[in-house]
Amino acid sequence: MKKEKIIYLDNNATTKVDLKVVREMTPFFTELYGNPSSMHFFGGKVQAHLDTARLRIANLLGAKPEEIIFTSCGTESDSTAIFSAIRVNPEKKHIITTVVEHPGILNVCKYLESFKGYKVTYLKVDAEGRISLDELKGAITEHTAIISIMWANNETGVIFPVEEAAKIAASRNVLFHSDAVQAAGKLPINLENSKIDLLSVSGHKIHAPKGIGALYIRKGTIFAPFLIGGHQEKGRRAGTENVPYIAGLGKAAELAAKNLKKENSYVKKLRDKFEQGVLKTIKNVRINGQGADRLPNTSNISFEYVEGESILIFLSEKGICASSGSACASGSLDPSHVLLSMRVPLTFAHGSIRFSFSVYNTEDEVDFVLKELPAIIKKLRIISPFAEGKPLFGEVKTES
Ligand SMILES: *Cc1c(COP(=O)(O)O)cnc(C)c1O
Repeated sequence: MKKEKIIYLDNNATTKVDLKVVREMTPFFTELYGNPSSMHFFGGKVQAHLDTARLRIANLLGAKPEEIIFTSCGTESDSTAIFSAIRVNPEKKHIITTVVEHPGILNVCKYLESFKGYKVTYLKVDAEGRISLDELKGAITEHTAIISIMWANNETGVIFPVEEAAKIAASRNVLFHSDAVQAAGKLPINLENSKIDLLSVSGHKIHAPKGIGALYIRKGTIFAPFLIGGHQEKGRRAGTENVPYIAGLGKAAELAAKNLKKENSYVKKLRDKFEQGVLKTIKNVRINGQGADRLPNTSNISFEYVEGESILIFLSEKGICASSGSACASGSLDPSHVLLSMRVPLTFAHGSIRFSFSVYNTEDEVDFVLKELPAIIKKLRIISPFAEGKPLFGEVKTES
């Protein structure tokens, strides 16, 4: 079979598993298959590897091992955090989050609003995708059970001031959670002196496999488990531990901590070269969130007058993988909720593509995309009924 050419620029959707991670995992399928909860020596042997993995994640986050529990994914960590907060504060029926959260938080909040009588304040973002800490201060009430603000946005890469936000939460005695799925392994995180109580991590965004995650629970935080059953994870998450995947996540965390600085400057160089190239060769584009602090690997670009989905199809024909909106929201033809909340004009928002880089990308790949992309946009603008100068331009009636 012919090996297909893949230029994978969708690393915020998922990442390739590092071979070192795969190697770390394999013994746990057929050799070290004991149940870590078992009394015998074989269980104990496996338990020691769980401890190692926990320590590695803790080190990545500047946390203590006993503050980490393993979950099945970032989404489970998010749900666990929110449901724990509302269970330990049954009388408090208010939640604060942002309009740009991942569905893992947004849809939990919408569920609690629709079916459980909760009031949710969604903090707005400005044109660059930033939140206002003053708006946060004003939103907290005596009924607020939890504040959940993502560390970095998956679509734009915009970074939020979560440590300052957590201080504000702590000063008002409100629990603070951060979905750090896009930040862990990409930004330095040190929870030791922060006021963050709960923090979500996912394996498959940091070169570990899909289906494994972790949740940081600050020591002393009153906590209610999401999965109820056995006594695993000191009663904080029932279910026999997914040992191979936990070992993989631990290895990925160790590698991320070790290489973070080096990898960041590498991917930032690729990303910046890419953005400069796009700005130079294509007109009527905007880089979303460019004025804010951003993850070094993420580029969200709007091409005016074209449909993002069409760009993706043409890119895909050249072997280039990118995404419109977020992987979790695609399938719907509405422009991304993140870009709409930044008030990106509709003619731009519809033509938005997220390119997200990793250490596996190369400069040659960036050059190849920069060579192909202008022709794709040009072709699409020629057939676009909306493009400037077209007869339809300015007199389009949108159906509602
Ligand atoms: C991917 C992602 C998640 C979900 O993680 P899963 O492990 O896929 O459940 C949550 N939050 C953000 C910001 C993400 O990018």
